[in-house]
Amino acid sequence: MLGSTGSVGQQTLDVVRQFPHHFRVIGLAARQNATLLEEQAREFRAELICCERDDSYLNGRIRERSLRAQLATIEEIASHPDVDIVVVATGGKAGLAPTLAAIRAGKVVALANKEVLVMAGQIVTREAKINGAEIRPVDSEHSAIWQCLWGEDSKRVERLILTASGGAFRDKSLEDLVRATAEDALRHPTWNMGHRITVDSATLFNKGMETIEARWLFDVPFDKIEVLMHRESIIHSLIEFVDGSLKAQLGVPDMRLPIQCALTYPERMPASIPTRLDLSRMGSLNFGKPDLQRFPCLSLVMEAGRSGGTYPAVAAAADEVAVEHFLARRIGFMEIPRAVETSLAAHKPIKDPTLEEVLDADSWARSWAEDWIKAKAL
Ligand code: MG
Repeated sequence: MLGSTGSVGQQTLDVVRQFPHHFRVIGLAARQNATLLEEQAREFRAELICCERDDSYLNGRIRERSLRAQLATIEEIASHPDVDIVVVATGGKAGLAPTLAAIRAGKVVALANKEVLVMAGQIVTREAKINGAEIRPVDSEHSAIWQCLWGEDSKRVERLILTASGGAFRDKSLEDLVRATAEDALRHPTWNMGHRITVDSATLFNKGMETIEARWLFDVPFDKIEVLMHRESIIHSLIEFVDGSLKAQLGVPDMRLPIQCALTYPERMPASIPTRLDLSRMGSLNFGKPDLQRFPCLSLVMEAGRSGGTYPAVAAAADEVAVEHFLARRIGFMEIPRAVETSLAAHKPIKDPTLEEVLDADSWARSWAEDWIKAKAL
């Protein structure tokens, strides 16, 4: 479990907790929160642990013999011979190296990290093919499409339709959006998630990233991927077949469902969550087209995805920097798309980049966006 102390990590362990006879946690890795990691390691009897920012704390606990585990690098955990499934829920580009380590070791990768496929989709999917590694989606939308595809011939699929709740600002006017604060953005109506992804949901940047992920996960060209606004987050996504038939996956908006699906595939197990979807009480479900004027991030990222090469990495990096500054109240909400747009416009792309070139593009975009924001804030 990589990223065990984060939102998806904790929910994954919650699923594992429900099926003590099916899963054994071999390793836990996190960037921070060593005390929670220690607690998790004790509860799940993890053999290997890694806390990027606080290894010395864990080392101390191990030396005092209050914790029975071994320190390891995140790549060692991801490629350990006893590991079957690697859940990658580390945020940002930190997920890239361990994902590749897991793929090169032929593991099943349950992927919750967005940047891995957004930044390096071509490299990662190519490596997966070469090494016979399987990538299973954890995100609710991709899990929905994946589930709809079970037993189907992918050549008969005409379109993938990703649904979007619209985030915290779906009903706000453009004027409201200009004045929107970090507090406003962090109130997501349906999903309970980390800070960055909640802001990315409010700008629809997140949905744009999901179109890129879908492109690589399901090997489908961009013109076959669409975004549909659906505020209730009950239909998690759909596919349309060549005969016009649509297939959708529905469920309560709870991440533990897609997580469980990725862990137990091809089996289905009794739900680890208490609530069931009662459609008779839902009354109605709403749909609409995304408003690209209020949420320009969506088209910016999709365009970056279509252009390919190093563009998606630049968009993701610039967005991450901009969101940090927005959360720190240094820039406004509508300046997030502007930071992304100007970074993309200034970037000199590389067509079929190596991992190193992707990471270079990432660093370039970060410093470029930082400078742009600093110049604005002065
Ligand atoms: Mg999602």
